[in-house]
Formats: sequence, C-alpha cells, structure tokens
Amino acid sequence: MAGGNAIRGSRVGAGPMGEAERGESAPRRPVAFWCANQHETRRSFADEAAVPETWDCQRCGFPAGQDRDNPPAPTKIEPYKTHLAYVRERRNEQDGEAILTEALAKLRPK
Ligand SMILES: [Zn+2]
Repeated sequence: MAGGNAIRGSRVGAGPMGEAERGESAPRRPVAFWCANQHETRRSFADEAAVPETWDCQRCGFPAGQDRDNPPAPTKIEPYKTHLAYVRERRNEQDGEAILTEALAKLRPK
C-alpha cells in the first residue's frame, strides 16, 4: 500500500505532458516505451514535439526506452527508500542483528 503512494508522488509533472495534452487537433503519434521489467508505457506526442529517448515507467518508475529488447538499466537508487529509512536502518542495526540471530536460531532444525 505504501509503495503505491510512493510511486504516485515520485514524478509529478516531470514531463512536457501538460502542454501536449491541450493541443487536441495537433497531429500526434503514439510512442511506446518499455522498462527493464517489460512494462509498456504508451504516450502520444505531437508531431512537432521532440520525443524523449526515455520515459519513466508508469508502474515501477524505472526508466523506459523505445527499444523493447534493450531497455535502459534501472536506476541504482532505490526509489522508495527515504533518507529517514536509511537513518532508522543504521540506528537499529545492532538490534536487527540480534533479532536476526535469534530468528535464524529458531529456523534451524532441532
Ligand atoms: Zn516498469
């Protein structure tokens, strides 16, 4: 659930779509983009508009390219992890290790 919200908020207004949407009478051409997860994102662009080489995937946020067989590499940054999450992770590292050790001990067959 939280993941969905993060996706929606990640790239609001990042593209030129605001202007493109208005010119309904202008000739448009459909362009499809594929991300590394093979999600397809379709966009139409006005004829005179420059089509970007990549587009952010609508589903996972990875960069998507027009070459289906050779999509752009996913960004190395984990998109849904905030700075705060990293801080918390670091602070709880020792606790986490203790919990993990305990959990592993329980998992081991007796
Ligand atoms: Zn995707």
